[in-house]
Amino acid sequence: MRLAYKSGRNMKIPFLNLKVNNKAERREILAAVNMVLRHGRIVLGPEVSCFENKIAELCGRKYAVSVNSGTDALFLALRALHIGSGDEVITTSLSWVATANAIALTGATPVFADIRNDLNIDPASVQNLVTSRTKAIMPVHYTGKICAMPELLSIAKRHKLLVIEDAAQAFGASLKGKVSGSFGDIACFSMNPMKIYAACGEAGVVMTDSKNVYDRLVMLRYNGTINREKCVEPSLNARMDTVQAAILLKRLKKVEGVIKRRRQIAERYSKKLSGVVNVPVERKGEKDVYYTYTIRTARRDGLKKFLESKGIETRIQHPFLMPQQPAYRRNVKGCYANAKRIVKQVLCIPAHEKMTNKDVDYVAEYIRRFCDDIG
Ligand SMILES: *Cc1c(COP(=O)(O)O)cnc(C)c1O
Repeated sequence: MRLAYKSGRNMKIPFLNLKVNNKAERREILAAVNMVLRHGRIVLGPEVSCFENKIAELCGRKYAVSVNSGTDALFLALRALHIGSGDEVITTSLSWVATANAIALTGATPVFADIRNDLNIDPASVQNLVTSRTKAIMPVHYTGKICAMPELLSIAKRHKLLVIEDAAQAFGASLKGKVSGSFGDIACFSMNPMKIYAACGEAGVVMTDSKNVYDRLVMLRYNGTINREKCVEPSLNARMDTVQAAILLKRLKKVEGVIKRRRQIAERYSKKLSGVVNVPVERKGEKDVYYTYTIRTARRDGLKKFLESKGIETRIQHPFLMPQQPAYRRNVKGCYANAKRIVKQVLCIPAHEKMTNKDVDYVAEYIRRFCDDIG
């Protein structure tokens, strides 16, 4: 193939582009912020409950409680389910460390399961790690692909475990038509600016069908208080800003388009790169949203350097497994041999919705050249 570019030197492909360059979109966001400034209900304003109702409905849930971040969402979800000291929660070994932190901060012990080659938690490994202390499973729909939920739910049922979905990376993803956030006893999303459905700042949400859990979440979201004054349990202030809710409501209309474009980009990459490196695979019934497009190759570090020299920014998500982090590695519980092997091979290449087909082809071409040793 002939490249559309003479040289990589002038080309810059950023991994992410969080600028709001589209004028119409910027106007809409500013109008939403303006509205909040005008009505003045800066905290828990009408946009917050409107956002909660809409997102609960989209995910087929009875209740949604908006919070400050995805990390808060996970932490409060565990607390709402009375998980704490003495309990074990089985989670994946490959995720952003927020997943393990949320568990550890409740006083419970994170137990790290292995992953399959699709980077998601391995149900067989989960099964092996269940003990009499296990209270819950926290699967992460990593890279925007839904975990093997039917298998995980049946393990949970068999051992009477709760399921907390960390769906931070997977808004809009589905498995056999069932959307992320609709599987667990409780589900958590992050709407931080990097995520598929993003605020212009930190944001997150927790969802459930249980009125009792919902009431606890509302209490835990504001210093463990009932009616704003009576504190029944120590907690944090994790309320979502009205401004972010207003922006999220505007952006909700755009999410389907974002997902569609990300899926197109992924398809284009996969056509050009399968057989060259390990590419993400979508099996029948899976609709992935490609929070990241993660390839695998034994020559990962060399490829990363080479792409950098061509102006292509890539990321390793993540260079360490959660149990390898200094915060966890001293006292690890779990089993994750496959994850240890795979974490050395993963590389996330630029795949955000603002890329053009030309950008995608440029990245794919240089990956191919590196792998063919033609530089
Ligand atoms: C982003 C992310 C979180 C944390 O969300 P924040 O909003 O950044 O706190 C948790 N888990 C996973 C898998 C994530 O990708």
